[in-house]
Amino acid sequence: MHQPQTTPRASIYYDYRVYPFETAPEQRGESRRYPVIIVGAGPIGLTTALDLARYGVPSVIVEAECQVSHGSRAIVFTRRSMEILQQVGVADRMLEKALPWRFGNSIYRGRRVFRMEAPHDDDDRFAPMNNLQQQYLEEYLLERVLQTPLIELRWGTRVTGIDNGDDGVRLELDTPEGAYGLDCDWLVAADGARSTVRQLLDLRMEGDSYSGHFVIADIRIDIDLPTERLAFFDPDWNPGNTILMHREPDGIWRLDYQLPPDETPEQALAPEALNRRIQAQLEMIGVDAPGNWTGVRSIRPAP
Ligand SMILES: Cc1cc2nc3c(=O)[nH]c(=O)nc-3n(C[C@H](O)[C@H](O)[C@H](O)COP(=O)(O)OP(=O)(O)OC[C@H]3O[C@@H](n4cnc5c(N)ncnc54)[C@H](O)[C@@H]3O)c2cc1C
Repeated sequence: MHQPQTTPRASIYYDYRVYPFETAPEQRGESRRYPVIIVGAGPIGLTTALDLARYGVPSVIVEAECQVSHGSRAIVFTRRSMEILQQVGVADRMLEKALPWRFGNSIYRGRRVFRMEAPHDDDDRFAPMNNLQQQYLEEYLLERVLQTPLIELRWGTRVTGIDNGDDGVRLELDTPEGAYGLDCDWLVAADGARSTVRQLLDLRMEGDSYSGHFVIADIRIDIDLPTERLAFFDPDWNPGNTILMHREPDGIWRLDYQLPPDETPEQALAPEALNRRIQAQLEMIGVDAPGNWTGVRSIRPAP
């Protein structure tokens, strides 16, 4: 039986709310066919449901977890993303908290070698880039979804099987109260990069992946620098590798540093290795680092 986490996830900047699993009508013996089922209540699933509702199309979202996403994920939302969020009524909420920016600095061995200036016109409604942690985006989308009668969201409901028939789809779902099935005309796979739906249908993503490994750490620290992207190449403390830094709301900074090719995730995530590298980066940009930062929010070696 599927058992999603029911305690709030840990975070230094975000107060997680756990949404309750509710017994589905089908688990009480009712049966009906739905026009659209969306798998996944991440940014894509929630936005898709809201956009469908704009056209009067009802949908059911099934989400394996009972809370918004975990870890250091998206923080930079482009103007185009903001335009899409505007369509579904969430852009203003984003702008209340997001940090807008348009300049980026590339620093090679301690010298700035390039300054990126993203075009921005007085008539532009949104800044080229806007920094906000993904959890807030999901929260704002959820607020809209919960106010939209055409959308039903089922927490704690994991897709485990698909029968892709000629005239619709039959889904197998697992929940804290056992399994049940759902029928729909259309199925939207919005269940992320490691999609169960794609695996079940034997579909593959096409494209390339970057071979480097990175540690991403969100820390609370007061750094007196503007909201601009900082990209460091081949710095003394991390030769041959890159580091990105971004300001986030609420006094949080993201450090995103590349690892030497032979280092394992276990070695990279050892507390002493994390401390040493975060200190080295902060010292490199002239921040009096020792003891001045708190709480690594989360770390993820990224492919
Ligand atoms: C480290 C990192 C940094 C990133 N930085 C940025 C950035 O700065 N800007 C940017 O735009 N993007 C960024 N991204 C990418 C961004 O996080 C993703 O593009 C985004 O989360 C994709 O949204 P999604 O809704 O497609 O999938 P997800 O956010 O992965 O959501 C999928 C949902 O489906 C649910 N699910 C999965 N399997 C099942 C199942 N079997 N049944 C039911 N539900 C299921 C999951 O629980 C989840 O809630 C970053 C990603 C990472 C990992």
